[in-house]
Amino acid sequence: MSGVLVVAEHLQGKLRDVTRELVTAARELGGPVSVVVIAREPRPLAEGANLEGVDEVLAVSAGRDEFENDVYQAVLEGIVAEKSPEAVLAGFTVSSMGYAPALAAKLGTSFASDVFALAREGEALVATRAFYGSKVHAELELPTKPGTPAVVLLRPTVWAPAEGAGQAVITETTVDVGPSRARHLEFVEAPVSDVDITTADFLLSIGRGIGERENVERFARLAEKMGATLSVSRPLVDAGWMPSARQVGQSGKTVKPKVYLALGISGAVQHLAGMKSSGTIIAVNTDPEAAIFGVAQYGAVLDVFELAGELEKLY
Ligand SMILES: Cc1cc2nc3c(=O)[nH]c(=O)nc-3n(C[C@H](O)[C@H](O)[C@H](O)COP(=O)(O)OP(=O)(O)OC[C@H]3O[C@@H](n4cnc5c(N)ncnc54)[C@H](O)[C@@H]3O)c2cc1C
Repeated sequence: MSGVLVVAEHLQGKLRDVTRELVTAARELGGPVSVVVIAREPRPLAEGANLEGVDEVLAVSAGRDEFENDVYQAVLEGIVAEKSPEAVLAGFTVSSMGYAPALAAKLGTSFASDVFALAREGEALVATRAFYGSKVHAELELPTKPGTPAVVLLRPTVWAPAEGAGQAVITETTVDVGPSRARHLEFVEAPVSDVDITTADFLLSIGRGIGERENVERFARLAEKMGATLSVSRPLVDAGWMPSARQVGQSGKTVKPKVYLALGISGAVQHLAGMKSSGTIIAVNTDPEAAIFGVAQYGAVLDVFELAGELEKLY
């Protein structure tokens, strides 16, 4: 067993937050932690990836400025052969889905995606992920051997981001992987959203319990007064009442605010998948049997409009 290799993710010259979360997960497994940064000019990114608890940063100069899945795969095959890690950790993101399954297939090793808990058990890693639309959680035993590491993609926002500067050795190398089969045409920004609910500390989240489209505005105003960011369950997005950027859940965003105030949300498994790791969950629902109460630290069986009226007097 020779440690964990974290694949740094970056976009437009900036390390993505998931990189720091991967470092935390790697540290929790124990043993040496290496971070590999693959970029045309990796040095500045490698310095950013030199976080507390990281033993080595591999700054690999390869490919172009833009992400190229085949370049990542080829570089990682080389690094795995050289460093023999027991596990390769990457974020469960669009980029890593472009190379990680192929890497695992090429190495003939185990693979798991969308993992939200990871532990070491003897010579194996045990990865927890959901199946059947989050109705079932399963633990997968992933055998590891130096040189044939388990390739594991971790769900973003589950682990706390690693903080603090590290003392790692930064090793610079250039890898000639040949020309990419991919051809970069242009960078298209994701549609600009007015909000990033994944970074909010306080989410006021509304569900179908608010009844009518006309009521959205009332809760939006209330959220603003309370210093909260408004988020929603999926039916409000499906109905076209709110943009998908505000949707919490399996097919929306995974959030981890300090406080999650759920108003008129039943707590379907697909919704819980996106918010149950929140710091403090407060649920308000007229149905005492609502599943949301199963994950809430505080709950009130109450009409959301009655609550809104009281809060409007306070704020
Ligand atoms: C593949 C798949 C992916 C999905 N992804 C997501 C996802 O990402 N996010 C998501 O949210 N859902 C998702 N869903 C949908 C999910 O299954 C539920 O249908 C959805 O979460 C229900 O939203 P809700 O709780 O707002 O509505 P409901 O389930 O209709 O619940 C409304 C709640 O409001 C309460 N209520 C009603 N009136 C009041 C009142 N006046 N005061 C207080 N409480 C009141 C009711 O008691 C009820 O509990 C997905 C489904 C599938 C199949």
